[in-house]
Amino acid sequence: MKILVLNTGSSSVKYQVIEMEGEVVLAKGIVERIGLPGSRLKHRKGTDDVVVEKDVKDHNEAINLIFTYLTHEEYGVISSPEEIDAVGHRVVHGGEKFTSSVLITDEVLEMIRDCIPLAPLHNPANLAGIEAIKRALPQVPMVAVFDTAFHQTMLPFSYMYALPYELYEKYKIRRYGFHGTSHRYVSQKAARLMGERIERLKIITVHLGNGASMAAIKFGKSIDTTMGYTPLEGLYMGTRCGNLDPAIPLAIQRELKINYTQVDHLLNKKSGMIGISGLSSDMRDLEEASSKGNQRAKLALEMYTYMVKKYIGAYSAAMGGLDVLVFTAGIGENSSFVREKSCEGLNYLGVVIDKERNREVVGGKEGEISSKGSKIKVLVVPTNEELVIARDTKAIMDGKTPD
Ligand code: ADP
Repeated sequence: MKILVLNTGSSSVKYQVIEMEGEVVLAKGIVERIGLPGSRLKHRKGTDDVVVEKDVKDHNEAINLIFTYLTHEEYGVISSPEEIDAVGHRVVHGGEKFTSSVLITDEVLEMIRDCIPLAPLHNPANLAGIEAIKRALPQVPMVAVFDTAFHQTMLPFSYMYALPYELYEKYKIRRYGFHGTSHRYVSQKAARLMGERIERLKIITVHLGNGASMAAIKFGKSIDTTMGYTPLEGLYMGTRCGNLDPAIPLAIQRELKINYTQVDHLLNKKSGMIGISGLSSDMRDLEEASSKGNQRAKLALEMYTYMVKKYIGAYSAAMGGLDVLVFTAGIGENSSFVREKSCEGLNYLGVVIDKERNREVVGGKEGEISSKGSKIKVLVVPTNEELVIARDTKAIMDGKTPD
């Protein structure tokens, strides 16, 4: 079975074609800058890369261009688009309606549309991807895999905000959490690596990429997560501020005399690593600058690792203990510095890092970085959201319930 996985943003479409027999990625790529000057396709088949500079007006043209290269004489991996058995779509927000991945029907499309107020930038883009595939491949079944679904097991005392209750009833303002496919995948993989059933484990997953979030996963279910109503809450990130005193955006608006959209931009695009350091939103740049003595880069790193450490403590308390701590995504998979500093001083919890192992497990490797005597296992598990989408899509095609 060949599955096309799509991650459609407002100006980009990422794709992978996965042969489910052996779970092999046949081709992958991205169409960038859709509807903007300088749009292009980057396509990879095996180790062969091709970059195509071409005007791409909208998502329909992007999908057509992708199929042109998937069926290309030299760079193609299928002889016709009909060879695709099913398409799995990443959908950012499933609100309270979706607790797992689903086959896309007209009713499901309507329900995804109903979630637009919760994700006004993301869901319309995801829907544009679904519509474009419907036009290109009307007969092919499609599955929606939601970023929020895995966290729907949270209980009201962990997902409610202490705001007037009507805001929840009327506008569904509550914590949803994101990166659900990643937290689900790495927690399940961690349990397998330990040879334990996930139903017996208390796991904290630490997803540190450009976006970053942590989750408390008790006996296989997400009971809390750092991102909230939007991905802005919780850990601070490349350009997002994370937790703040809620009065601060009001003060910024008042002091800078800027409007709602400008405050939104400041909190989402100008804060976090770039805001504190004034240098970069990329962790590699901060580590380098800090090692050369840049004080603001150093401060940014101290704040970052302190915040991860605080949540490890909070989530251990929330679960009544901890068995496994899992690091993943760009920073979690590569920065031995961030992992070591985030775990520093957690011996009292039973977390002890083996510094040498920690330095070795980088560059997409999987492995244990805790020392032999550590009561808590600390693992690095590279995430693979596309594979989860493909697996869920296959499970639904096979008439099975996804994990
Ligand atoms: P996205 O959320 O866009 O998928 P990624 O998971 O790719 O992001 O993570 C991107 C982050 O990972 C960037 O901050 C980048 O600096 C960081 N990163 C990648 N490689 C390294 C490395 N070797 N050391 C430290 N940080 C790294």
